[in-house]
Amino acid sequence: MEQTLDTKIKEAIWTANNLFKRGKATGSVANLSFLHEGNMYVTATGTCFGNLKPEEFAVLDIEGVRLNETKPSKEWPLHLSVYKAKPDASAVLHVHSTYSVLWSCLSGLNESDCMPNHTPYLKMKLGTVGLIPYEKPGSQELFNAFDKRVHTSDGWLLSHHGPVVPGKGIMEAFYALEELEESAHIAWELRKLATGVTRYE
Ligand SMILES: [Zn+2]
Repeated sequence: MEQTLDTKIKEAIWTANNLFKRGKATGSVANLSFLHEGNMYVTATGTCFGNLKPEEFAVLDIEGVRLNETKPSKEWPLHLSVYKAKPDASAVLHVHSTYSVLWSCLSGLNESDCMPNHTPYLKMKLGTVGLIPYEKPGSQELFNAFDKRVHTSDGWLLSHHGPVVPGKGIMEAFYALEELEESAHIAWELRKLATGVTRYE
């Protein structure tokens, strides 16, 4: 049975607050969405994950037509692309978490699966992570680049920007994002140890 809208909003706020408290969603740049009765509920523009309120969700239909007065995050087309490409997804998280962003700045990554599997958990909780080439945040060029590759992996890292992670529900998306950020942290530390690289390249 589908969860009530109230339950989904509570889970979304819990997730947002916890990502913020632990430094994985900074300022007002993170956004999340979930589906309810075929419509997309996405955090409003300028909202802060540390202080998200139940009324701060814009509602759009699956074609992107706005159904309430609340202005959505400018990154809402990324969320809609995921729902169109992944019928199993009913929630999407996007943050600018430090280790995922650090990893996304490296050159020579495998674009169809850019995260190393130093532990099995990322594959268990999410799957493959595609790399989306850098385009300006919120730009049509970014949405086009994302659309082109959204079918080719289970989650995504926007180069020089941050992760986009889907889930069957909000909590599943949260677990997957946690695993991606942990995997990026582990990969970053191991790379430093292995290469002794301490400068950006
Ligand atoms: Zn962003």
